[in-house]
Amino acid sequence: MTEIEKFGHFAFIRHSGISKYVEALEQGKLTATRCRKCGSVYFPPRKFCPKCLADDMEWIEYEQAGEGRLLSYSIIYLAVAGFDEKEFPAPVGVAQFPDGNRVYARIEGVAPDSLRVGMRVKLAPKALPDGRVTHVLQPA
Ligand SMILES: [Zn+2]
Repeated sequence: MTEIEKFGHFAFIRHSGISKYVEALEQGKLTATRCRKCGSVYFPPRKFCPKCLADDMEWIEYEQAGEGRLLSYSIIYLAVAGFDEKEFPAPVGVAQFPDGNRVYARIEGVAPDSLRVGMRVKLAPKALPDGRVTHVLQPA
């Protein structure tokens, strides 16, 4: 299984662009990229800096995320292609973190009727049963 297959079936970046991210997820760690020119940090990692347009990025462990706040969420009731129907309904959401990053991910550990905009969440690496890896949002 290639890195892109481990992370998901669709991506907009080349396979080599996410290798370090997937390897870290497999080790239970979150990684981000930091622009060497302006210092901006991106999670999920980016190969180019949209703020200063530099392509000189370094990989860092993403420990600065801290607690985020859930900005929005939804519940997916129909199984998405490639996912087990038993995983649905599945909550997904976007969280805002103190460093400015906004992260979209599945939400774990919260009953769908307990989800609230503004609730505190944290990021966590997640190993899926079929060998893929991802990041998820969990209650902080
Ligand atoms: Zn930059």
